[in-house]
Amino acid sequence: MDQPQSNSLIALRDLEKIYRVGTELVHALRGVTLDIFSNEFVAIMGPSGSGKSTLMNILGCLDIPTRGSYELNGTDVSKLSQSGLAKIRGRQIGFVFQNFELLPRTTALKNVQLPLMYAMVPKRRQRAMAALERVGLADRATHRPNQLSGGQKQRVAIARALAQEPDIILADEPTGNLDSATGNEIMSIFEDLHAAGQTIIIVTHEPDIAQQCHRIITLRDGLIASDVPSGRASVSTRMELETAGATS
Ligand code: ADP
Ligand code: MG
Repeated sequence: MDQPQSNSLIALRDLEKIYRVGTELVHALRGVTLDIFSNEFVAIMGPSGSGKSTLMNILGCLDIPTRGSYELNGTDVSKLSQSGLAKIRGRQIGFVFQNFELLPRTTALKNVQLPLMYAMVPKRRQRAMAALERVGLADRATHRPNQLSGGQKQRVAIARALAQEPDIILADEPTGNLDSATGNEIMSIFEDLHAAGQTIIIVTHEPDIAQQCHRIITLRDGLIASDVPSGRASVSTRMELETAGATS
């Protein structure tokens, strides 16, 4: 299957990323071909150095591939300039990080509002409050990060990602700094968002976390080593993946 499927949200074709370090070339991605459909809930796994962060950076329009194509919502974003990438990011991608990346002296509400200010979105306060409500934190809107637990901080970060109404939420090790009970709470929020139609892609090295997603893609040495539905995948998701030839 060489042509992007018209209904895939993300279509990668023979994606390569080569970093130059001095005179040495590092092949971080060696030819990744992948379709991700709207409302999928995907885990990306793989050993350290296998290319997970490189792939997330490209999916999130933080970086472009050296070769190959990336169509996001039917638009080829693989050759965009920095400002072109920034526009796409602001409208279509919500990021969640391992370390939350909240502004420390700023309330939860203001943290959630900040990207909306950059994007000059109207009704920022209402949208930010609605996002905090969706993660069950409306009653902590005026708290600063140091007055919140780790799990609450990550929920604020998820609200911040949600407030922009992104097409995709990309989360890099979102439970990496949380104990397993809190990690499971965060995963159940992602599950609720998925049930409401959100597309979610999570990088994790924890098999328990990956099993809570519906499709598990494993990278090894810059290539896809396996791409399978998890035990949690619904029958319709499995059928879609099989139709797409994604299962091995
Ligand atoms: P992972 O997230 O799976 O640990 P990465 O995508 O960070 O893997 O790295 C894949 C490979 O690319 C590794 O060999 C890493 O050293 C290299 N790499 C990643 N980022 C850079 C960079 N900015 N410059 C040079 N090499 C890099
Ligand atoms: Mg990484």
